[in-house]
Amino acid sequence: MTTTATDAVLERYEAVIGIEIHCQLRTNSKMFCGCSTAYDGAAPNTHNCPVCLGLPGALPVINRQAVEYVIATGLAIEAHIPERTQWERKNYFYPDLPKGYQISQYAIPLAAHGRLAIETSAGPFVVDITRAHLEEDTAKLLHGEGGGADRTTLVDFNRSGAPLMEIVTEPTIRTVEQARRYAEELQLLLRAIGVSDADMERGQMRVEANVSLRPRGTEPFGTRVEVKNMNSFRSVERAIAYEIERQGHALDNGEALVMETRGWDDGRQLTYRMRAKETSDDYRYFPEPDLPPLRVDAGWVTAVRDALPELPSARRARYIALGLGAYDAAVVTADPTMLMAFDAISAAGSAPAKEVANFVTGAHAKALKAGDANAAGTAGASTPAGIAVLLGAIASGTVTRQVGRELLDRHIADGTQAADLLADAGPSPISDDAALLGHIEAVIAANPRAVADHKSGKPVAGFLTGQVMKATGGAADAARVTTLVRERLNREG
Ligand code: ADP
Ligand code: MG
Ligand code: ZN
Repeated sequence: MTTTATDAVLERYEAVIGIEIHCQLRTNSKMFCGCSTAYDGAAPNTHNCPVCLGLPGALPVINRQAVEYVIATGLAIEAHIPERTQWERKNYFYPDLPKGYQISQYAIPLAAHGRLAIETSAGPFVVDITRAHLEEDTAKLLHGEGGGADRTTLVDFNRSGAPLMEIVTEPTIRTVEQARRYAEELQLLLRAIGVSDADMERGQMRVEANVSLRPRGTEPFGTRVEVKNMNSFRSVERAIAYEIERQGHALDNGEALVMETRGWDDGRQLTYRMRAKETSDDYRYFPEPDLPPLRVDAGWVTAVRDALPELPSARRARYIALGLGAYDAAVVTADPTMLMAFDAISAAGSAPAKEVANFVTGAHAKALKAGDANAAGTAGASTPAGIAVLLGAIASGTVTRQVGRELLDRHIADGTQAADLLADAGPSPISDDAALLGHIEAVIAANPRAVADHKSGKPVAGFLTGQVMKATGGAADAARVTTLVRERLNREG
C-alpha cells in the first residue's frame, strides 16, 4: 500500500477518524487493590490477591494516585473535571476478565471536553477530545504457550486490575498524518506530566483507530471500523491508510461495510476481521454497587493544576521565543535528555539558544549516547556552565568552530575547566576581514612567484592560505582565509 493509493481514494471520499488510546498509569499499586504494578518480567500470577483475581466477596478500594493522574491529564488537555463522578460496571465475558465485568466509568468520565493542539505539514490542527476516564486492565492471555499441546491458552493475572486511562477523541480527525501526530503529541504530554511511560511496544499505550469514509461533500458518517493491535506510530499510520484504501474499494464496488473490530497485522501489512463490534447496549452498564460515587474536591483539582510541569506546547513556544526555529524547538522538546541539557546550559550562561540547540542535538547527543548523563544532566565530566562558556566562545569568535569543538570534547572527557581550555587555546582567531586582508597582502608581496603561477593557471590558493596561517600563528579561520585569497587572486585575473 502506498501513500498515493490512499490519496487516490481520498480524492473521492473524506476520511472520518476517531482515536481511542488506553494507557497504563505509573502507579505503584493496582486500581482497586494493593498489588504491585511492577509485574513486568515477573513470573505469571505472582502479583495477585482476591480483588484482582475477582474472587467472590472481595471488595475494591480506589487508588487515589490513579484518580489524580487522570485529573492531571484532564487539566493538561484543558478538559472539564466534574465535581462528582461514578464507577460503572461494564459487563462482558472473556477469560481475561475473572469478575465478568470491568469497573470503568461511563456516564460521567473524570475529564470531558478537552483538546490537544498538534503541528502537521499542512499547519496547526486541534484535536477535540471527548473524554478521559479511568478503568482497570484485564489479565493477559498466552495462546499456544502451554508447553504441551499448542492449542492451550494460559492466563496470567498479573496485569489484571492495573489502572488504565482511556482517552477518546471526537471523530474530527481527517488525515493519517493528523492521527499519527495526535498519538505522538499525546505520548509526549503523558510522559511530560509523568502519568504514564506510554511505551507503545510494551503495551503501555495502546492506540485504536476508528475509521470510516463518506463521499466528499456529504454529511452523514459512513459505517466505521475499529482497528487495534498497532504497536508503533508507523503502524498506526499504515493501518489507517490500509483501511481507507480497503473501504474505498469496497464502497466503489457497491459492497456494504460492516461495523466490526479489525486487527492490524504488521507482518502482512493489512487489517483482518477479529469480531463484530459490540455496542454499548451489549455491556449493560450500571453504577458499581461496591463503590460510592467519587467526589472531586475543587481544592484537589487546584493543587494538581499547580503541580503540573511545563507542558510540551508551552516549552516549544518558550524555545521559539529564545530564538530556536520551530523544528529545533520540537526536536529538543521531544527528548527528555536534550531538553534537560538545553535548559541547564541555557540557564548556566549566555550562549545563544541556537548554538546550545545545535550542541545538544548534535555532538552532545552523541556523547550522551556513549555514556550516561551526569548529575547535571550533561555528558561525561562536563558542567552546564563549562559548556555554556565554550559555546559562547565559539559564537563570539573567540575560538574557531573547529577548535571550540575540540575544547568541548576535552571538557566532556575529563572536565577540564573551560577557562583553562580557552587560555591554552592560544590567541583569538583573526576573524576580522580587514586584518586578514592585511596578512594576505603581506604574503602576496613576499611571494611574487605565486601570483605569476596563478596567472599561468597553477593552483596556488592552498599555498598562500598556508603562508597566511603560518604568519598568524594558526590563529586565523582557514576557510575564511581561503575565500579571501581566492577573491584576491581573481582580481589579479
Ligand atoms: P465504542 O465505545 O463503541 O468504541 P465510542 O462512541 O466511544 O464507541 O467511539 C469510539 C471512537 O469512534 C471515538 O473516537 C469516535 O470519535 C469514533 N467514531 C464515532 N463514529 C465514527 C465514524 N462514523 N467514523 C469514524 N470514527 C467514528
Ligand atoms: Mg472502541
Ligand atoms: Zn490484587
